[in-house]
Amino acid sequence: MVTVQKFIYPTTLGEALEALSAGRGKARAIAGGTSLVFHRGRSTEAYVDITRLGIDRVESLEGRIEVGACARLGALAQGHDLLVPGLRALPEAAACAGSTAVRNAVTLGGSVAGYKRWSDPPIALLALDASVHLEGPDPRDVPLADLFSAHPLSKLAAGELITAVLLEPPGPRTGSAFVKLRRTAVDYALASAAAQVVLDEQGRVADLSLTLGAVRPLPTDATDLAGELLGAEPTEDLLAQVAERIAQEVEPGQDMRASKGYLARVAGVVAEDALATAAARAREEESDA
Ligand SMILES: Cc1cc2nc3c(=O)[nH]c(=O)nc-3n(C[C@H](O)[C@H](O)[C@H](O)COP(=O)(O)OP(=O)(O)OC[C@H]3O[C@@H](n4cnc5c(N)ncnc54)[C@H](O)[C@@H]3O)c2cc1C
Repeated sequence: MVTVQKFIYPTTLGEALEALSAGRGKARAIAGGTSLVFHRGRSTEAYVDITRLGIDRVESLEGRIEVGACARLGALAQGHDLLVPGLRALPEAAACAGSTAVRNAVTLGGSVAGYKRWSDPPIALLALDASVHLEGPDPRDVPLADLFSAHPLSKLAAGELITAVLLEPPGPRTGSAFVKLRRTAVDYALASAAAQVVLDEQGRVADLSLTLGAVRPLPTDATDLAGELLGAEPTEDLLAQVAERIAQEVEPGQDMRASKGYLARVAGVVAEDALATAAARAREEESDA
């Protein structure tokens, strides 16, 4: 059971930060509120609802794309600004996070800060090399990869809020994809993968990133395991070799739904699929131009 004495509904960022400055144990941010089911036994004096601060829009600002931390996954799944091939992994991940009801509540910032092993959007954001903007005692931008060197909540100072996720607009011949394997339409991921692939004018891989989700407690950067694709055409044979390497190298954690050997295999499969789809989208984008 969660014990809480009051809910606070600030309407400006300043008011929210002021309320959160009371410190841990006294005040806690709440966005979609879907992680409350996991807060059994944890108490706080006040929940500070951050969903009325006007930080839920997708905007192109100063050459970068800012996604407000309180944007709901349901809206992002249909977010037309993000449906370009190079960023497609994000709406794709948002579209398969839990049920429709869950997606209509969960926020992007809550998905990052309240990361669970099954969280889908952070896997896409890591492959897209996103950063976050933090507000609080020391406002700053932080690469998401740094925030995920441990659990993101442990990296946030008391009273600190993620107010936006920052994305670089993709360059030409860039594609991305997110692929998730689950047992049912609303199940948590057994394994997931997000990839971003940049092709050169000859159709060879000029750059790539690959992140695996769900197989370990924190996301796994598998970019090096796909390194043999660099400078080469992403043929079926090469992609199958990458899948095999991932299956050999990734060391899945315990999951009551499947054996570690099975999880290693499917991690290779979803990675292969994400890389192939990202490369195909990079090629399509070139032919559209
Ligand atoms: C039945 C069910 C199934 C689910 N399935 C999936 C799934 O398949 N895939 C998936 O990706 N997710 C899934 N989720 C959602 C996931 O487990 C988390 O509950 C969700 O990501 C939390 O987001 P939220 O906006 O509700 O955050 P909240 O629950 O409001 O907050 C989560 C934590 O983050 C902190 N926080 C929130 N926003 C900020 C911010 N802007 N800055 C700093 N700290 C912040 C809060 O203080 C809290 O500690 C599921 C949830 C449920 C209940």
